[in-house]
Amino acid sequence: GLKGHVAIVTGSTSGIGLAMAGALAAEGVNLVINGLGDPAAIETERAGLAQKHGVEVRYHGADMTKGDQIADMVAFAEKEFGRLDILVNNAGIQFVSPIEAFPVEKWDQIIAINLTSAFHAIRAATPGMKKAGRGRIINIASAHGLVASPFKSAYVAAKHGILGLTKTVALELAEAGITANSICPGYVHTPLVDGQIKDTAKARGMSEDEVVRNVILAAQPTKKFVTFDQLAGLLLYLASDMGASVNGAALSVDGGWTAG
Ligand code: NAD
Repeated sequence: GLKGHVAIVTGSTSGIGLAMAGALAAEGVNLVINGLGDPAAIETERAGLAQKHGVEVRYHGADMTKGDQIADMVAFAEKEFGRLDILVNNAGIQFVSPIEAFPVEKWDQIIAINLTSAFHAIRAATPGMKKAGRGRIINIASAHGLVASPFKSAYVAAKHGILGLTKTVALELAEAGITANSICPGYVHTPLVDGQIKDTAKARGMSEDEVVRNVILAAQPTKKFVTFDQLAGLLLYLASDMGASVNGAALSVDGGWTAG
């Protein structure tokens, strides 16, 4: 089992990251959580995870646009726990706009948070994982790592980039007992998607209900949002010894979206 292992989950103060942190803690994994938010709310989350699951949980506030802070977060995990077994690169943001109006600073921010942050974290985590002879790098990509949608140029570019980064490090680190994989979720009902519903409604001149029905779940053949448990099942499998031969893969959990 994963009991006693150590994981970093970036962007784990909300949505998918928060749920993945909970799923790992439930398996007895000690955690470094990360993300933006109100300090008191983050402390409540940290203490709650630790108490509910009987694991050690630390918070590191690294800003995912800052490479030095990301490297410091990895060093912090190794110092606090003496090991780092699982790195979940999850932090991400979205911005929806036609390309000709796409704010340049939003492009830069999305590439930094959704793509470059994973490079910095993997780069920093690799020496320790190599020394241990084992490691799991799990990148939360998206169906948008495999296919595009209009008005999401930066997000789609970053998520396609994550798949390429993942495949590259999978090849580099395979013999060291380290795997790197991307999970490609379809739509999950999180605060990020709530924001997107509003932005898409504006960009396309539709009501929010119409966006959910005709845009968001239109892409997802099951017509259901993907759940946290469905993502956690795959994450825990990849983190386990059973997942040792899954390497460099982009694994879709999207209700059939990218089959079409
Ligand atoms: P969310 O908005 O609920 O959570 C995002 C997390 O990232 C938060 O904890 C936030 O604090 C953190 N974050 C944002 N900017 C940061 C920064 N500069 N530094 C540190 N942390 C930062 O979003 P979510 O829907 O849970 O998305 C999580 C990941 O899953 C993202 O990479 C997203 O692209 C991906 N994803 C989401 C969906 C979906 O439908 N929700 C689908 C596919 C992929």
